Amino acid sequence: MADNDQVSRGFRLLDCQEASKHHFERAANRLKMKRRLRDWILKPFREISVHLPVVMDDGEIHLFQGYRVQHNNTRGPYKGGLRYHPEVSHDDVRGLASWMTWKTALLGLPLGGAKGGITCNPKAMSEAELERLTRKYTQAISMDIGPSQDIPAPDVNTNEKVMAWMMDEYSKLRGYAPAVVTGKPIDLGGSPGRLDATGRGVAIIIEQWAADNNVPIENGTAVIQGFGNVGYHTAYHLNRAGCRVVGVSDTGACVYNSKGLPVEELIKHKQETGSVKSFPGAETMAPAEVFGLQCDFLVPAALENAIKGDNFEQIKARAIFEAANGPVCPLVEPGLTEMGITIVPDILANSGGVVVSYFEWVQNLQQFSWTAETIDMELKNKMINAYRQVVEKATAEQVSLRLAAYMLAIDKVAWASLVRGAY
Ligand code: NAD
Repeated sequence: MADNDQVSRGFRLLDCQEASKHHFERAANRLKMKRRLRDWILKPFREISVHLPVVMDDGEIHLFQGYRVQHNNTRGPYKGGLRYHPEVSHDDVRGLASWMTWKTALLGLPLGGAKGGITCNPKAMSEAELERLTRKYTQAISMDIGPSQDIPAPDVNTNEKVMAWMMDEYSKLRGYAPAVVTGKPIDLGGSPGRLDATGRGVAIIIEQWAADNNVPIENGTAVIQGFGNVGYHTAYHLNRAGCRVVGVSDTGACVYNSKGLPVEELIKHKQETGSVKSFPGAETMAPAEVFGLQCDFLVPAALENAIKGDNFEQIKARAIFEAANGPVCPLVEPGLTEMGITIVPDILANSGGVVVSYFEWVQNLQQFSWTAETIDMELKNKMINAYRQVVEKATAEQVSLRLAAYMLAIDKVAWASLVRGAY
């Protein structure tokens, strides 16, 4: 969602596609990957762009633009979220789709990568309008998604209700198929643990990093930018682990209390008032001030390019855990490293969502339900295993966690591509 001409204190902002390519090329250089192989695995396999006429509540027809970018299915069916946002662009969806390919590969899931988006303002639309839009979009891409083709999931401004509409519309057209989407309501084939999976995964990685770096989680402090699905559930699980969540922001405000914020009361306040603003017992400040707050763990959980030229020097955290996709502008990363701040990359830190989506898909295919305890144990195993691999690679190669994660992921996709063959 970056305006390409936008400059943030001398640092250009990269859109998701540019950011993804930036990280990919650095890893491919290090892997000494040939240009033809790079092009083969970096370029999306298929791109779908659709125009969706939707009757609005006032009877007028509005034309929406939607995308589904199927980046790579070498290791399994395409997998990735669906985003509703006024600034969704084709290039962003391309970049987000490629991040899904690297994420599923890094976590060792038998899936590829995809992403969808519709340029719309869901906050200005009624639920009935959103349902009609979702059904139109599903109709438009119904021939290209499916349990063994491409499996969408929730992302920014989409949720289990949107997934239920998609599943219903697809099933009307192609026969009952709960495995066509993940992140569904439990009673419609959803999985225990999917709703909070991304935040739970971020908390698992933070706890592991804290243990490795002698920062006891019980005495640790966290600051979270973005208080939606991922931000809230990260805060909730960190709090349960004994960590103090001292600062939280959304688009309306940033709230701060050095003694720690009561996370569950804060979400109730947001649900009732629409924002964390004016939460009793906390200091309210401007949203941008979130990045200047002192903490051990900084968790950007909103959108891409949150940390950029005009704010990275304010950061007073030991480590940044990328709960959002692409929240650190790649051009300020060297500066953060010089400041001694570790960055735990998105393709590792926020992969809990796709891991439990994978479990949901498996349960749908098996027509068998797992318990919440099994889900949590399997999630933890997968995330800690990936974390260990990334840390070992980074240590062995003397590179950042991001470069190590990309090297591992890209190598797996390249290997699978070569073994399957191009013809
Ligand atoms: P969401 O729509 O539930 O929440 C987004 C939150 O960010 C909202 O609270 C919004 O107010 C806040 N926000 C937006 N701009 C902000 C700003 N400038 N300052 C402060 N807050 C701001 O979305 P989500 O599902 O929580 O996704 C958040 C991020 O996590 C996205 O980058 C998404 O791609 C990524 N992600 C989500 C999942 C998932 O399972 N939902 C999985 C992996 C990654």
